[in-house]
Amino acid sequence: MSQHDLNWLVTHTEPKASNMIQQLRAHGITHEELLALMGNLPRHQFVEPAFSHLAYSATPLPIGRSQTISQPLTVARMSEWLLTHARLGRVLEIGTGSGYQTRILAHFFNKVHTVERHQTLHLQAKDRLSSMGVNNVEYLFGDGQAGWPNKVEMDAVIITAMASKIPLALTSCLKQQGILIMPIDHPSPQIGCWRKEGDRWKCLGTEAASFVPLLEGMEHA
Ligand code: SAH
Repeated sequence: MSQHDLNWLVTHTEPKASNMIQQLRAHGITHEELLALMGNLPRHQFVEPAFSHLAYSATPLPIGRSQTISQPLTVARMSEWLLTHARLGRVLEIGTGSGYQTRILAHFFNKVHTVERHQTLHLQAKDRLSSMGVNNVEYLFGDGQAGWPNKVEMDAVIITAMASKIPLALTSCLKQQGILIMPIDHPSPQIGCWRKEGDRWKCLGTEAASFVPLLEGMEHA
């Protein structure tokens, strides 16, 4: 099947991007530019082809290498927190995965730094976003727990995999008043948003969500 046929199939099969946007609105997502962007992004091109007919459903989906793209509401919530609270300068993303969240970050931030420990996913996401004309992203194949090289200071850090402890390299690269978004497991799996205030963290929001684990080391091809 050609990409053209696939596009036709996806736009003529339920659920569509417009249904997804309705659902996001129903769950309290209000940022119009974000909703317009998510409504126009070809989410079916970011998931494993066998699941592309489900790309606009309210569910996480496989993206290869046993990893998953978060369900649309989780992506929208994390993005809306950043748009509400963060200075949209430089953001660090840990867990490039399919590049879907990266693509959204690239629309709003001046510069995106993204790290992925699976070489295949790293290369695929890089090719995918380059072919979409995205050119304000720096991609790194590596263990994101070490942070970004050369201690570049970030306005925001978003971790899209569940850690058992918070890597110091990721909190110390955040500027004061910077925003941290990361999943936590206690008391139940959820995603949270915090602001760095001196040596304290002010919680700005949480929402139930599940994530694949943050793992050590790198996986070549
Ligand atoms: N944001 C992604 C979804 C990511 S799933 C998207 O929109 O598609 C989480 C990703 O984090 C997976 O691709 C996984 O390989 C990656 N990951 C897990 N531990 C990591 C680590 N220590 N460093 C970098 N990436 C990691």
